Amino acid sequence: MTLDIDMIRADFPILERRLPNGKRLVYFDNAATSQKPQCVIDAMSEYYEQYNSNAHRANHTLADEATTALEGARDKISSYFGTSPEQMIYTSGATEAINLVAYGWARENLSEGDVVVLTEMEHHADIVPWQQMSVDIGIEVRYVPIDIESYTLDMDAFEVALNGASLVCVVHTSNVLGVRNPIEEIIEKSQAVGARVLIDCAQGAPHERINFDSLKADFVAISAHKMAGPTGIGCILVKRDAMEEMVPFMTGGSMIKRVTTKGSTFQEGHAMFETGTPRIAEAIGWGAAVGWLEQFDMEEVHEHINDIASWTASQMRQIPGIQIYGDPGRDDSSGAVSFLHETIQSQDLALLLDEGGFAVRTGHHCAQPLMDALGVPSTNRASFWIYNTMDEAESFVHYLQEIVDRFA
Ligand code: PMP
Repeated sequence: MTLDIDMIRADFPILERRLPNGKRLVYFDNAATSQKPQCVIDAMSEYYEQYNSNAHRANHTLADEATTALEGARDKISSYFGTSPEQMIYTSGATEAINLVAYGWARENLSEGDVVVLTEMEHHADIVPWQQMSVDIGIEVRYVPIDIESYTLDMDAFEVALNGASLVCVVHTSNVLGVRNPIEEIIEKSQAVGARVLIDCAQGAPHERINFDSLKADFVAISAHKMAGPTGIGCILVKRDAMEEMVPFMTGGSMIKRVTTKGSTFQEGHAMFETGTPRIAEAIGWGAAVGWLEQFDMEEVHEHINDIASWTASQMRQIPGIQIYGDPGRDDSSGAVSFLHETIQSQDLALLLDEGGFAVRTGHHCAQPLMDALGVPSTNRASFWIYNTMDEAESFVHYLQEIVDRFA
């Protein structure tokens, strides 16, 4: 099957949007968040219009329907990620997922001097919680550097950093460089020295089918909103034995078995970590998103996105003053093109692009240690997804050339 991009685009009403200045939207900020297909919007509206109710509480019809839909979504999503519903804990996104590992697993199982290995490519979501653990319990945090010629992790340094490590936390795919890390090798080598492994799949899941059980990582963090789902939901997938080592980091309603004035007992498994009213509409929306994604072969999706990224980067390299960070189009790349112009400030460039209808991200991308390694404070980033087209890429390159001709 080859992807029918026109049909795919027809599922996304927002792609028809014109900006206030009349320009047609060209959405190249997919690594920040993807757009949502109509079926996701409909599934969430249907919940609010037809059976809005709290889940896991009352015995009336609407409450039953909401509970069934919430748990049905967990079944669908966990199955999409190749695991069972018991291994999946709903969170507000990848950030909360990683914090749950830090506060729910690490704080209970690590102590002063234990080593957590990160990389310079991590998103702040996978750096700051570990720095906090360093303050809280005195863990040692080590960073694997990147090789800035190839934009890949320095795997020799990784092996050195592994010495005595208790936990290794690595981003599957960099949100800045688009580079996909050799996570299978990282998982195998980390587990060989007895370390647990957390993979941040916020950017990986929109670009390839993640199979948690065959990946064998201990923890996998996922965000719904970058893979056609709504904002405000994600999950942490947790291996059975690792979940048994976790303690709740948020307590209150839903996660308890019995509360008395003397103390409380807690639910078991994932229910112990899902506190308060669940994100019902969001879970239903995410379930619809994975149902929508299931129709595609993710290898074809990856190829489509990489073709656009590779072509765009090759054209951009011919525009005087443009420097690209990363190597878009390479097999281990996911479709993000980070770039700067030598004289046009990144913020100005983004505003000029916006005037032409092109939505790109500007800034440090919540990856300041990576910016430091690259020696820049920020980049512009065009990031592509399933519904983007070569025509959009062509118009982007022409428009960028015009900006450079006028302002550089
Ligand atoms: N990790 C990476 C690599 C990301 O790109 C992001 C989102 N920018 C996050 C973590 C945080 O994800 P969320 O928005 O779901 O909290």
